[in-house]
Amino acid sequence: MIRVQSVAAGSIGAELGLLPGTELAAVNGRPLEDFLDWEFLTADEHFVLAARLPDGEEIEYDIERPEGLPMGVTLESPRIRRCANHCDFCFVDGNPAGLRAPLYIRDDDYRLSFRYGNFATLTNLKAWDVDRILEYRLSPLYVSVHATDPTVRRWLLRNPEAPDIVRQLGWFGERGIAFHTQVVLVPGVNDGVQLERTLDDLYGLGPAVLSVSVVPVALTEFSKRHLVREPTREECRAALATVDRAATRALAQRGGPWCYGADDLYLQAGEPLPPAVWYGDFEQRENGVGSVRFLQTRIADATDRLPDLGGKRIGVVTGQAMGPLMPQVLDRLAAATGARFELVVVDNTLFGASVTTAGLLPAVAIERALAGRGSLDFALLPAEAVNDDLRFVDDVAVDELAERVPMPVRLSYDFVDALSECGVRSAACGVEGSTPHSPFHTPHHGVGKGAGQR
Ligand code: SF4
Repeated sequence: MIRVQSVAAGSIGAELGLLPGTELAAVNGRPLEDFLDWEFLTADEHFVLAARLPDGEEIEYDIERPEGLPMGVTLESPRIRRCANHCDFCFVDGNPAGLRAPLYIRDDDYRLSFRYGNFATLTNLKAWDVDRILEYRLSPLYVSVHATDPTVRRWLLRNPEAPDIVRQLGWFGERGIAFHTQVVLVPGVNDGVQLERTLDDLYGLGPAVLSVSVVPVALTEFSKRHLVREPTREECRAALATVDRAATRALAQRGGPWCYGADDLYLQAGEPLPPAVWYGDFEQRENGVGSVRFLQTRIADATDRLPDLGGKRIGVVTGQAMGPLMPQVLDRLAAATGARFELVVVDNTLFGASVTTAGLLPAVAIERALAGRGSLDFALLPAEAVNDDLRFVDDVAVDELAERVPMPVRLSYDFVDALSECGVRSAACGVEGSTPHSPFHTPHHGVGKGAGQR
């Protein structure tokens, strides 16, 4: 059974009389377990829905649904599938006290992997899950591989029950399911020959593995640093050399690099990022792979549409990771808009200096950094730093922060989103929401540049 959270006005759901709190029990006699059942079983033009209204009335609706017309029903969040692993580098262990409650949940959920691109390990799949992946063709899925040697992978996941990932991916691949994969690089464990073996094994799975990214492990000051450490510059360089060999082979044989280093791997290695064209469709952008080049591409594509903001002073809040790269992005923006962009690089006072991604900046640190910047016309805040309820990792709402800083603020993923609207509505931008992302997004997926660590 799943429950309705809200119903869009004028939608099919509203016409039926579905209300917030309505329990959706079954479609065509098949019980509904979660949003996947709802979406797939109601995709037909004709179906019978069994529901119980908030007042207890049980109704069966015989529904004719014109093709493409949405039901207009938003469901309550599903129960998150918990993780069966105990990685030494798990971000949940690296969380300080006082964060939003969901950030302490170790989720490992293939449903969120399909829907939002969250990485899952597939170590907690039941037979029923496997059946659903095949029946609903949940592809591509995003999978944390880390190592294909079963012993090494089990050691990394601290899970002696973890199945052989090559056999698992191969089995799904034969049945039409494809995967984007990642390796979180833990020095001394899955680098060197283990990384080479992992990339070879994944490449050997053919079209089932669409891509693999190599992401350096990232830790907070609360992580289990006695058990795991970050890679050195030399170790990052060595990993990049392995990535390059795999990418060169894939380019020659399959026409695309297939294997990517995360932006952080290049930064930590002190090596330049590849050009935008290297990343193709930027399929692992949310994982911090090509995200800098994606940003530049977005801005270049939107140059003609950006408004004239001549004379405006605009603050750009970011974390230490993007600080050194941001000028090459902002120069282009300044040329296109006439505005003066002032970089506000914020230290992460909550997780410690080793956490440099903008997506994990707490409101308290941003507030402090903006306190003396009253001459700014407005400031752009990283939209990835808030959840769907517009709350930062330290549970402060954006509008609360807005009241505490001496200029209007605006959330932005790529500048183009926020600045384009400023042109339409003048530059007196207030706080606005962000585009939706996984409501279950937890920072242990995003300790690096993007949202990928698991
Ligand atoms: S890092 Fe991910 S897979 Fe590992 S223990 Fe944490 S939630 Fe589980």
